[in-house]
Amino acid sequence: MWNPSKLNLNKKIPAFAGMTIMNIKNYINGQFENPINNEWLDNYCPANGEVYGILPNSSKDDVENAYIAAQSAFPIWSQTTIEERSRILIKISELIEANLQRFAEAESKDNGKPIGLAKSVDIPRAASNFRFFGNAITQFASESHESIGQQAINYTLRQPIGVVGCISPWNLPLYLFTWKIAPAIAAGNCVVAKPSEVTPMTAYLLGEICTEAGLPKGVLNIVHGLGTTTGQAIVEHPDIKAISFTGGTATGAHIAKVAAPMFKKLSLELGGKNPNIIFADCDYQDMLKTTVRSSFSNQGQICLCGSRIFVEATIYKRFKKDFVQKVKQLKVGHPSEESTDIGALVSKSHLEKVLQYINIAKQENGTVLCGDNKVTLKDYENGYYLEPTVIEVITDDCRINQEEVFGPVVTIMPFNYDDEVLQMANKVKYGLSATIWTNDLKRTMRMSNQIQAGIIWVNTWMLRDLRTPFGGVKASGVGREGGFEALRFFTEAKNVCVKY
Ligand code: NAD
Repeated sequence: MWNPSKLNLNKKIPAFAGMTIMNIKNYINGQFENPINNEWLDNYCPANGEVYGILPNSSKDDVENAYIAAQSAFPIWSQTTIEERSRILIKISELIEANLQRFAEAESKDNGKPIGLAKSVDIPRAASNFRFFGNAITQFASESHESIGQQAINYTLRQPIGVVGCISPWNLPLYLFTWKIAPAIAAGNCVVAKPSEVTPMTAYLLGEICTEAGLPKGVLNIVHGLGTTTGQAIVEHPDIKAISFTGGTATGAHIAKVAAPMFKKLSLELGGKNPNIIFADCDYQDMLKTTVRSSFSNQGQICLCGSRIFVEATIYKRFKKDFVQKVKQLKVGHPSEESTDIGALVSKSHLEKVLQYINIAKQENGTVLCGDNKVTLKDYENGYYLEPTVIEVITDDCRINQEEVFGPVVTIMPFNYDDEVLQMANKVKYGLSATIWTNDLKRTMRMSNQIQAGIIWVNTWMLRDLRTPFGGVKASGVGREGGFEALRFFTEAKNVCVKY
């Protein structure tokens, strides 16, 4: 876990005079606010290991204020026409696009992700979230059922829930934050949202954009802080009636326990240990190129990355040689350089955790084929850089193959039979996504039906269509987001039966 040092800013922010320290604030009722208790956290830049900002460690009182603002905004926002809500969401989308460079730089600085990735994927997708749900809400129809023979008609209203909580992780900061907020407000709810304390920057910038887009005050409230203080206060709040959470499995289990006695609606998008299954009959070059991407994109810190690569034995040797050669060519570099393939890991403690897993793999007879070295960049010696690492394992039940590492580390191992690989693919506690490479239709259908995961890609990876359901099974989560699934989550269905 990331362990920030607390700064006591009773001495006030000018103590930083001379340094360009970014002072992130809460966004409550359309205003930027200091935390009531004046408690602050350090915000580190992973590229150089330095503190470049401070953010509130908000208390229960800040969450209460955010709740009151949201609750006050709800009667009007929930009655605002769908056309007006849609117009504002689309305006937010346009403003994010207009500020692409600023958002991408902030995301890259905060998270360590290559600027090219932030510019081409993360920020455009955050903008798409608002555009998509701004449009989707106009198509979100209620159902009605004529009860023939009983002289009755049933119709089902989809009513907003009220005040909802959205809590997101650090790996795709703005993208996942907005993935929750956009459908929540589109459906007429008001929101108390908390981004990860490790990457608060773009959520902070979003507040400005929302004001500029004309989002009424109180509809979106952003409180910053640690999970155990601010996050916990959101989950514990008796009148925040639904929680949409993305993050680790252990945190998700904890949230479920806290929320259950209050009967909160929960959507939990949790960890993964996704198989990437490669059959000899696939389009080899396409598979090879995509597998490098699916293994190491965003330093392997995407819940959908394929971290367990199973390769049919007849092409195993060839794949091993070609894959390792390609991985060695990836450029580990400063996130702000366009030519960087692998940026910095998100935090020092996360880098240490990933290195620890590589050691565990070695102790369990894994063979490191490449990587396993910290990288020291000139002038950025304290940045959190690690070479992309490929480990050959001899059994699938070792810890590196069972536990989520969430870094630039993948395992490879051969298999001989479809049933064998199917069994290995399913023999983990997680079930988020899986990738299959084959041109055999029967095999495609059989594997896709039997792999335990919420998302299956065949001959591709991370091809996303926002209309599709997104989420996992087993320890990867409960519920689905995306498309109308998200709008269903953020509304209550109420059936009305009228006898005529
Ligand atoms: P995390 O669980 O540590 O934190 C996620 C968020 O929850 C943060 O905002 C954190 O402050 C907050 N939080 C922590 N403790 C809390 C508590 N007691 N009450 C309320 N909120 C609390 O996860 P992370 O390290 O930020 O993110 C990495 C994890 O997220 C990985 O396991 C990854 O697989 C998962 N993830 C899943 C998906 C998905 O869609 N399934 C997507 C991205 C990341």
